[in-house]
Amino acid sequence: MTTPDETLPAAAPCPICGKPAAAAFKPFCSKRCADVDLQRWLSGRYAIPGREDDALSQEDEPSDD
Ligand SMILES: [Zn+2]
Repeated sequence: MTTPDETLPAAAPCPICGKPAAAAFKPFCSKRCADVDLQRWLSGRYAIPGREDDALSQEDEPSDD
């Protein structure tokens, strides 16, 4: 069964902060939120076969906690 859904929102909200997602960072609104999601994956020890990150040495997260 396939139901063509034409009611898809133009911009789904960012799953991290709820802001409208940006096309360049879908489904996130920014690289920051994409990083947040990535961190969650890493911290959760999820293994992604076939993926190698060798440029994760930059920190652009100001600690506002
Ligand atoms: Zn966001």
